[in-house]
Amino acid sequence: MKNLISQDKILKDGKLHIFLLGTGGPMGNELRVSPGIAVIAEGEFILFDVGPGSYRNANILRLPTESLSVIFFTHFHSDHIGDLGEANMDSWGRGRTKPIQIYGPKGVEKVVNGFIMAYELDTGYRIAHHNEEIMPPEASIPIIKTVDLKAPEDRELIFEKNGLEIYAFEVDHSPIKPAFGYRIEWKGNIVVITGDTVKTANLVKHTQNADILISEAISFDMLNNLVKGAKRFGLDRFVKLLTDVQDYHMEPKIAAELAKEAAVKKLVIVHIVPPLANEKLEKVYLKGVEEIFDGEIIMGKDCMKFKLEPKN
Ligand SMILES: [Zn+2]
Ligand SMILES: [Zn+2]
Repeated sequence: MKNLISQDKILKDGKLHIFLLGTGGPMGNELRVSPGIAVIAEGEFILFDVGPGSYRNANILRLPTESLSVIFFTHFHSDHIGDLGEANMDSWGRGRTKPIQIYGPKGVEKVVNGFIMAYELDTGYRIAHHNEEIMPPEASIPIIKTVDLKAPEDRELIFEKNGLEIYAFEVDHSPIKPAFGYRIEWKGNIVVITGDTVKTANLVKHTQNADILISEAISFDMLNNLVKGAKRFGLDRFVKLLTDVQDYHMEPKIAAELAKEAAVKKLVIVHIVPPLANEKLEKVYLKGVEEIFDGEIIMGKDCMKFKLEPKN
């Protein structure tokens, strides 16, 4: 019965809530779907990425999706954007009366407009069938906000409400450019979301003193074991893919170094790749992490939640 609490109250209960909607990578599986994080505070329902399968978890958690107000994209790999159409259509159907604001790096306009076009016919069907009062047309089309960082080494405040501040900063997920991480500051608390990236000095700088660092990390060790097996069977394409992905992500030990250097309190690992068949493998995934970072280490799981109280 744990998911049956009325979640409307959390919109304005004076706390900041975080829900991991998807903690896997591009290949979703029964344990972990693709990336998505919900943050609810100060009456705002915010998503950071909305990868395939992640939006469904928002409804499974009974989050007040009709109040979905803002989406921030880190970059436009399919595992981070695939559920945008569902998020927009479903939240509108559930009673959202204002358009969602969508922020992202350059390219966000193209991506969002593509989804708008794909859903244009259905948007018309819904309005015609239920009427404009039930399905307000003005709420169906998101407001697109392209974020173009003025100085690549600085973070930029791009959203602010009642002391909830959200900053975008540049990460390195080359050749995907630009790509962002996000820093959330709220009443003395700091939460950082890395997006997909390698470790850079800029990332360390903008992660500084985070209470919670939600960091991507894929297991190079496990991928390389798969590569060895794939080589034996002559699966060249598989070998190349599993090798290529390692040059634009961190591995758990690197995420631990990031957490250590940035004096983070709690490290939450997400973007779990390769998929883990069972929980025992989490120990293998996190091998060596404790030796580097002595704060709290959490292996992210879908539907995991965190709650922060105001510090000031
Ligand atoms: Zn990704
Ligand atoms: Zn990516």
